[in-house]
Amino acid sequence: MQLIDGKATAAIIRENIATEVKELLAKGGKAPHLVAVLVGEDGASQTYVNGKMKACEKAGFKSGTIKYSSDISEEKLLKTVEQLNKDDDVDGFIVQLPLPDHIDDKKVTEAIDPNKDVDGFHPANIGKMVLNLPTFLPATPYGILQLLEHYDIVTEGKHCVVVGRSHIVGTPMTLLMSRKASPGNCTVTMAHSRTKNLAEETKRADILIVALGRPGFITKDMVKEGAVVIDVGTTRVPDASKKRGYAVKGDVLFDEVAEKCSFITPVPGGVGPMTIVSLLKNTLISAKRRQGL
Ligand code: NAP
Repeated sequence: MQLIDGKATAAIIRENIATEVKELLAKGGKAPHLVAVLVGEDGASQTYVNGKMKACEKAGFKSGTIKYSSDISEEKLLKTVEQLNKDDDVDGFIVQLPLPDHIDDKKVTEAIDPNKDVDGFHPANIGKMVLNLPTFLPATPYGILQLLEHYDIVTEGKHCVVVGRSHIVGTPMTLLMSRKASPGNCTVTMAHSRTKNLAEETKRADILIVALGRPGFITKDMVKEGAVVIDVGTTRVPDASKKRGYAVKGDVLFDEVAEKCSFITPVPGGVGPMTIVSLLKNTLISAKRRQGL
């Protein structure tokens, strides 16, 4: 079994991005500028946004966070989106999800200028992804593609099973793994909560990608010998032995599943860091495009 080290892979990619930023500046260009909009006090969202901002700093980006309390009106948030769309200095921005219940997240996503939608969630960008046109790929699936590439994992002709069909992970992942591209060219099964005999489906997977949000859900009897297992899940589970009072757990019962795998991602340190670095990649693409490069 080989461990897929997302942290180390992300660090290499971030270094390459930092080099490109230096080259951009040397040519008289400007550093990419990413803004995150954070609504409310959700601890996990704050951690994600902090991680993204720290990564920006390391890559030489300009970055900033706009924070609002959870009672912000939808109208005010949409106004902020509009301002960021118009701000010529901003190359890309994200509105961290989830949003409070009184705000329609679809409305907010659709208000973002697709050319600055570095999360790749806007319908126009999802449409381009489906058609295999150049676009901002959603950060988590994009990060997984880069991991598969970095570890030279052959995907062509393989059977990939994606568990989960969210708009941000499962659905784009399914599409990307079936695309006529590399990584891609898989025969893909998408499973979800209404799938019958889930274990029978997952056991057929050469490549199993799990995005559920249910810690330890995938056990060894659900995995084929020699499978590649990508665990997207990150759930905070109370843990008194940790200083912060919780541990972050994946959807795969790592200890027992790992022994059956050819490759497996750990949680934390697998997909998470790759998501952040993919966001940086998208922002760099946007910055270069906006500077006519
Ligand atoms: P989500 O929107 O809650 O979707 C979960 C999916 O799992 C749904 O499609 C749901 O099916 C399916 N599901 C739930 N219970 C199931 C069951 N018993 N059997 C089969 N399918 C089941 O979650 P998400 O946004 O995709 O996130 C999934 C996990 O990934 C979470 O832990 C999240 O924190 C993590 N995540 C991590 C990163 C990262 O960078 N590492 C990024 C994004 C998300 P239905 O559609 O039928 O309800």
